[in-house]
Amino acid sequence: MYLTDLDFDGRRVLIRVDFNVPLNESGEVTDDTRIRAAIPTIQYVLKSGGSVVLMSHLGRPKGVTPEFSLKQILPTLEGLLGSSVKFAPDCVGDAALDVTQSLQPGEVALLENLRFHPEEKEGDEFFAGQLAENGDVYVNDAFGTAHRAHASTAIIARFFPEDKAFGLLMAGEVKALERVLANPVKPLTAIIGGAKVSSKLGIIEHLIGRVDQLIIGGGMAYTFVQAQGGSIGNSLVEEDLHEQARTILKNAATAGTQLLLPTDTVAVQEFANDAAQQVVPTNAIPDGWMGLDIGPETRAAFTGAVMASRTVLWNGPMGVFEMPNFAVGTRAVAEALARVTAEEDAFTLIGGGDSVAAINLLGLADQVSYVSTGGGAMLESLEGKVLPGIQAILD
Ligand code: AMP
Repeated sequence: MYLTDLDFDGRRVLIRVDFNVPLNESGEVTDDTRIRAAIPTIQYVLKSGGSVVLMSHLGRPKGVTPEFSLKQILPTLEGLLGSSVKFAPDCVGDAALDVTQSLQPGEVALLENLRFHPEEKEGDEFFAGQLAENGDVYVNDAFGTAHRAHASTAIIARFFPEDKAFGLLMAGEVKALERVLANPVKPLTAIIGGAKVSSKLGIIEHLIGRVDQLIIGGGMAYTFVQAQGGSIGNSLVEEDLHEQARTILKNAATAGTQLLLPTDTVAVQEFANDAAQQVVPTNAIPDGWMGLDIGPETRAAFTGAVMASRTVLWNGPMGVFEMPNFAVGTRAVAEALARVTAEEDAFTLIGGGDSVAAINLLGLADQVSYVSTGGGAMLESLEGKVLPGIQAILD
C-alpha cells in the first residue's frame, strides 16, 4: 500500500501524477509546484531499480486539442528531474506501448493527456485496462483528483490487485488526515472560515463530536450570529441557513464540542482596503457597515484556543485576507498555528484552497506540520467521505 511495501527492481511503474499546471500563451509552465511535488516519488522508483511511466490530465480538453498537450510540460519536467523524458503521443494503444514496453530501468516516460479520451472521466473499465498495459505496478500520487472515480485514479487499480501503492505525496496526505480525523492527539481544534456556510456544512457536521473546539470565523460566522438574533449590518449572510446554523449550535453543545464564534468584528462601510474601519461587537454591527475581519478580542480568543491544542486543522480564512487591512485575523491564526507547532510540537494541518493560499501569502507554509495539496479532495475527506482514489489502493 506504500512504496516501501513494493519491489520496483526491473519493473515499469505507472504513476498517476497531477501535472494539471497553469501554462501561459506560449505553452510554458508558469507554476511548477505540482510537478515538483511528484519528483520524490519518481526518484524513489528510479533509485529502486524501476522505470517510470507518468500519466496525468491537463485542463478540460474536449477531444484532442494541442493547447492541452502534456508535451508542453516536458522541458520543465526534464529540468526538475535532471534527465531526459520520453514522450508518448497517446496514453493508450500502440503509440503508448511503443514507448512504455521498451522502457529500461532508470528511464522515464510521459503519456499524453488522459482527458483526450472521454473514457478517462467516465471511469471506463476497458480504457483503464488499456492504460494498465503501460506498467507492471500502479502508483497513485495525484491527491488532487483522488475524489474522482476516473479510469486512471481509481478504476485502474483493479488491474493491479497486488501491485499498487500510494505515492509519497498521497501517503503524506493520507497520514496527515489520519492524524487529524482518525487518531488525533487531543485537544483537537478545527478552525473553519471562508465566505459561505453552505460550502462548509458537510465539514462542520462531520467535525462536531470529533473535535474538542470548533472555531468558526470569516464571512460564514455572520449567519450564525444573525441566526441567534444578532445585528450584522451588511455583512455576508445566508439567511436560508439560519435553521441549520441553530441546529449546528445545538448539536455542538450536545456532542461536547465547544463552538467559538467571533465576538468582535472589524467593520467598514465600503468593500475597499483603505475604507475607514471600526471595531464593533459581532452581534451589534451598525446598519450600513459590514464585517470583513475578526476583531482584536476574537484574535486573542482564537489564538488562545489554538495554543491550548495539540492538533489543529485549519480550513478557510478569518476575513477578506486578499486585502492587507483585513488579513490581520487570518495572519493571527496562521501565526498561532506556526507557534503551537514549534513550541508545543502540535500537529497542524492546513487544508483547502483559500487557507493554503493564505498561509503561502503570509510566508508561513513551512512552519506548520502539513499543507494539503488537494482542494476538493481535502474538503471531501474532511466531510468524512472515503475518496475513490484512496479506497482503490486500500481495497
Ligand atoms: P471560501 O472559498 O468559502 O473558503 O471563502 C474564501 C473567501 O472568503 C475569501 O476570498 C475571503 O475574501 C472571503 N471572506 C472571508 N471573510 C469574509 C467576510 N467577512 N466578508 C466577505 N468575504 C469574506
